[in-house]
Amino acid sequence: MKMPPFEYACPTTLSEAVALLASRDGDAKALAGGQSLVPMLAFRLAQPALLVDLRKLAELREIRISTDGVRLGAMARWRDILDDRQLAAAHPLLKAAVAEVAHYQIRNRGTVGGSIAHADPAAEMPGIAVTCEAEISVVGKSGSRTIKSADFFHGPLMTALAADEIIVDVRLPAWPARRRWGFVEFARRRGDFALAAAAVFYDEDANGRARNAHVGAIGVADRPLRLRPVEAVLNGQFLDEETIAKADAAASAAVAPQDDIHASAAYRRALIGTMVERALRAAHARPV
Ligand SMILES: Cc1cc2nc3c(=O)[nH]c(=O)nc-3n(C[C@H](O)[C@H](O)[C@H](O)COP(=O)(O)OP(=O)(O)OC[C@H]3O[C@@H](n4cnc5c(N)ncnc54)[C@H](O)[C@@H]3O)c2cc1C
Repeated sequence: MKMPPFEYACPTTLSEAVALLASRDGDAKALAGGQSLVPMLAFRLAQPALLVDLRKLAELREIRISTDGVRLGAMARWRDILDDRQLAAAHPLLKAAVAEVAHYQIRNRGTVGGSIAHADPAAEMPGIAVTCEAEISVVGKSGSRTIKSADFFHGPLMTALAADEIIVDVRLPAWPARRRWGFVEFARRRGDFALAAAAVFYDEDANGRARNAHVGAIGVADRPLRLRPVEAVLNGQFLDEETIAKADAAASAAVAPQDDIHASAAYRRALIGTMVERALRAAHARPV
């Protein structure tokens, strides 16, 4: 289908972009790489009167690594993350997850902020944000605020973002050097959205027992999930066969997916257990 008619603006400052978004009473949309919004326009799932292109806002493109963690500007593209060599040490889980996003062409244009705002329950970046307890900075006509990832995602394509708000950056807490991690997903074809994915990390105490376990699940609910029952299974334990089997079972029990055209609920429930199991095995086996 052809796209509906819309006006287009390409501001050069963030304040101008916010003013433009606020000018249409909810009938304007930010445009990042267009990798989700343009198909939505073509299918008439979105028909905003005005598109506010963020591509000239250079300050939104920056990736900054500091002792506080990683700050991803909203307009940082998947390609920028994959090309950033420092991120391999500063946030290997992020880098591994982004490598699974879509195809080469889409990774060249798709952005962190676009993915977070779009809130596809099967997308990698929202899952990483929730697993890592990222904070999302936004600015709107009433000023700036920071939203915890746990409070940001309300359902498929639904978020805490107000119509006039722009995501400025996503901040991931600092990543200790010897942290163990794994990211595993299953999709029918390379580059498709995952049927299910697991993101896990944990630290180890002086005896090698897991502590501070974080386990995230993608594609098995209406939003990305933290699987707290699985974390409870892992904390204080050695990652032996018994613990991994318990984590697999706890992951399947912790989710309640729906049947859809891609997979039955029972299949997805079993799959997330297997994804968690494989991610834990990868975390345990990786040299630190
Ligand atoms: C064929 C195909 C396969 C894909 N596979 C995957 C996949 O496997 N995994 C995955 O994670 N993604 C996948 N994607 C989506 C892709 O990752 C996009 O990067 C992502 O959807 C966001 O697109 P974008 O950055 O271009 O944002 P846009 O499409 O420009 O915008 C998306 C939404 O976010 C809003 N928005 C954008 N930036 C901001 C901002 N800074 N502040 C507030 N709102 C904003 C827009 O208004 C719009 O509502 C796929 C896309 C396609 C077309």
